[in-house]
Amino acid sequence: MIAQRVESVLSAIRSAAEKAGRRPDSIRLVAATKTVTADRIREGIGAGLSILGENRVQEAIPKVEALAQAPVRWHFIGHLQRRKVRSVVGIFELIHSVDSLELAQEIDRRAGEASRPQAILLEVNIGGETTKGGFHQDGFVQLVSTMAALSNIQIKGLMAIPPPTAEPESARTYFVRLRELAEAIAAQRIPGVAMDELSMGMSNDYDIAVQEGATLVRVGSAIFGERHA
Ligand SMILES: *Cc1c(COP(=O)(O)O)cnc(C)c1O
Repeated sequence: MIAQRVESVLSAIRSAAEKAGRRPDSIRLVAATKTVTADRIREGIGAGLSILGENRVQEAIPKVEALAQAPVRWHFIGHLQRRKVRSVVGIFELIHSVDSLELAQEIDRRAGEASRPQAILLEVNIGGETTKGGFHQDGFVQLVSTMAALSNIQIKGLMAIPPPTAEPESARTYFVRLRELAEAIAAQRIPGVAMDELSMGMSNDYDIAVQEGATLVRVGSAIFGERHA
């Protein structure tokens, strides 16, 4: 079951890429594995998953240990509390969800202590929702310049979770907005800032995100089924 779903998500990513005239290998699937047991994740790895995205440090660490021999990389995709930063540096190849200057500074400090530069994405509150975290677009470019000066973090791109919509197609405008924001930042040529990665699209709308330039899609329920926890 899981194997079939992995194959169908990977093939949907390929067709969306081809439809958009993009190289299919320019998009990577991040399997969102919150609430999924290590055994079920292993099934997915057997079917081709190579990047796992976790939301909570306490839940992730035991899974990272259980799957230590598996050929996978871990990404952190959930809200990260500053006091948990010490436990994530060096374990996660990429943190998608850096949503404040203070968090970026703490990651920089801990990565410096560990002598391990940390790759990050900046999470943008692309729908301007008051109930959601993430950087707002006003003043964002200036903040990116400030964070670019932190020498132990590497800013690789942007991430967003658009507001919930009834129709997947309605998310397209937010994906376009995130891509345009990344292009605007890239045009500033801020030293140390790359805008190579766009993390956007989930189970309902990842094909649309791929059409609009996603390089990382975060897909959970389309692979592992609905979450009950
Ligand atoms: C759970 C989660 C996903 C995956 O959501 P699905 O709708 O199950 O695909 C993607 N991104 C983040 C940040 C998540 O927490």
